[in-house]
Amino acid sequence: MTTNKNNLTTSWGAPVGDNQNSMTAGSRGPTLIQDVHLLEKLAHFNRERVPERVVHAKGAGAHGYFEVTNDVSKYTKAEFLSEVGKRTPLFVRFSTVAGENGSADSVRDPRGFAVKFYTEEGNYDLVGNNTPVFFIRDAIKFPDFIHTQKRHPVTHLKNPNAVWDFWSLSPESLHQVTILMSDRGIPATYRHMHGFGSHTFKWVNAEGEGVWIKYHFKTEQGIKNLTEEVGTKIAGENPDYHTQDLYEAIEKGDFPAWKLYVQIMPLEDADTYRFDPFDVTKVWSQKDYPLIEVGRMVLNRNPENYFAEVEQATFSPGTLVPGIEPSPDKMLQGRLFAYADAHRYRVGANHNSLPINRPKAEVHNYQRDGQMRFDSNGGGSVYYEPNSLGGPQESPENKTTAYPVSGSADSTAYDHNDHYTQAGDLYRLLSEEERTRLVSNIVGSMKQVTKDEIKLRQIQHFYKADPEYGTRVAEGLGLSVPQEV
Ligand code: NDP
Repeated sequence: MTTNKNNLTTSWGAPVGDNQNSMTAGSRGPTLIQDVHLLEKLAHFNRERVPERVVHAKGAGAHGYFEVTNDVSKYTKAEFLSEVGKRTPLFVRFSTVAGENGSADSVRDPRGFAVKFYTEEGNYDLVGNNTPVFFIRDAIKFPDFIHTQKRHPVTHLKNPNAVWDFWSLSPESLHQVTILMSDRGIPATYRHMHGFGSHTFKWVNAEGEGVWIKYHFKTEQGIKNLTEEVGTKIAGENPDYHTQDLYEAIEKGDFPAWKLYVQIMPLEDADTYRFDPFDVTKVWSQKDYPLIEVGRMVLNRNPENYFAEVEQATFSPGTLVPGIEPSPDKMLQGRLFAYADAHRYRVGANHNSLPINRPKAEVHNYQRDGQMRFDSNGGGSVYYEPNSLGGPQESPENKTTAYPVSGSADSTAYDHNDHYTQAGDLYRLLSEEERTRLVSNIVGSMKQVTKDEIKLRQIQHFYKADPEYGTRVAEGLGLSVPQEV
C-alpha cells in the first residue's frame, strides 16, 4: 500500500503509527530504543540550528528585481548592466551587526545591506552596509574590533569600556563613529535607509578598460530615523520591529525601492586624490565624483520560508561576475576570504548549491563531493582538468584585469592618516538640532565608560575633527579637553 499524502511520515518517508506516545516497556516502563521515530525526532530537533553569523546574525530578507535605468556599458561589461530596461532577479538581506539572532532591531548599530543579483553570468553579491565608511580599514583588526562589540568574557554583558578603549586607540574609526552616533545610527525601518557598497571596486568594460567605483543605493522611501529614546522603547515593546515592518510592507503591496548610483574615478586619480580612495574609512566627495544613476531595485516578494531563504542565504563580496573586480582596499581583501569561509563553516562547502544561493546561470566545474552534496554531483561527467574529454574550459576573455604593483612585501599601514577632516566635514554638515542629538548620543554612551583615560583620549579625536565637537562632548561628560590637543 502506498503512503497516503495526509500520512505523517518519518524523514525516510515511512508512515508514523503514533506521534503522541513514545514506545515503552509496558505502560509504566522505560522508553524503548527501538522507537526510532522518537530517536529521529529528538535528534533532528537538536540539530535545527546552524551556527548564527558571528556578525550580522539578526536579519530580514526579501526577493525583488533590479532594472537598469541608465546606460553604463561604457564603464562595465557586466551583462546584467548591459542595457537600459534589463531586469535581474535578486534577494536582499538587511541586518544589524553586533546583536545575536534574537536581539532587538531598533538599536544603534550599522545595518547590513546585502544584495544577491542572480545574473545570467552567475551570481553577483554586493555586500555592503547602510553607511559609506567603516570603523577600521585593515581586516587584521576585525576580530579585535568585533570582540569589543560583543559580550565580556566574564560578565557576558556588553562592555562600553572595551568599545571606547578600542575606538580611542583606533582613530580611523572616528568618521564611522560620528555617523553611528548621528541620527542615522538608528534607521526608522530597513526601508528608510540608504545602502552603500562602502569599498572601492573596479568596473571593467568590453575593451578591458577599468575605472574605480563606489556604489550608493538611495532609498525612495526617504531617510527616517529613530531617536535614542524611541529606539530604546521600541526595542522593549517589539524587538522584531524592522523585521515585521519589511514583511508587512511587502505583504500589503507597498514595495520598497532604491535607486542605485555609482561614483566613478579614473584609475590614474587613485595616485593623486587627497585621500587614499581604497581606504574604507573615507568617502569620495560627491563634489569631486558626482553620483551617476545606474538603476532601480524593488523588493516585491517575501520569503516563503525564513530559514531556507534568509538564514541560509550566503553573501560574499568575492561573488563577482565579469566586469566587476576587487580593489586593493585592505578591508575588502580580508572580506574576500572571510565571508565565503564563514558560509563554508556555517552552511557547508556546498552552500552555493542551496536553492536560495544557486545561480540561475548553469554551473560547470570540477568540484565534487563534500557534505550535503544533494544535486547529481556531476554524474559521470569528467572530473578533472585539463582533460581530452571535452569538459568545461577557462575563457581567457574573462580573466581579471592586470593591476600593477610595486614596493616590498611587508606589513604596511595606509600612507594617509588624516582621520579627522571627513568626520569634521560631517559634523559641520549637521544642523544645530542634529549636532545636539549627536553629542547627546555620544555622551549617553561614553558616560558608561568607567576610565577617564579612555574618555579623554576619545575627546581629543572629536576635538581634532572640530573643536566645537570635542568641546561639547567634553562638557557633556563633565571633563575638559586635554591641554595637549
Ligand atoms: P556632499 O554634500 O556632496 O554629500 C554629503 C552627503 O552626506 C550626502 O550623501 C548626504 O546624504 C549625506 N549625509 C547627510 N547627513 C548625513 C548623516 N547624518 N549621516 C550620514 N550621511 C549624511 O559632501 P561630500 O561628498 O564632500 O561629503 C561631506 C561629508 O558627508 C563626508 O565627510 C561624509 O561624512 C558625508 N557623506 C558623504 C558621502 C559621500 O559619498 N561623499 C556619503 C554619505 C555621507 P543624503 O543626500 O541622503 O542626505
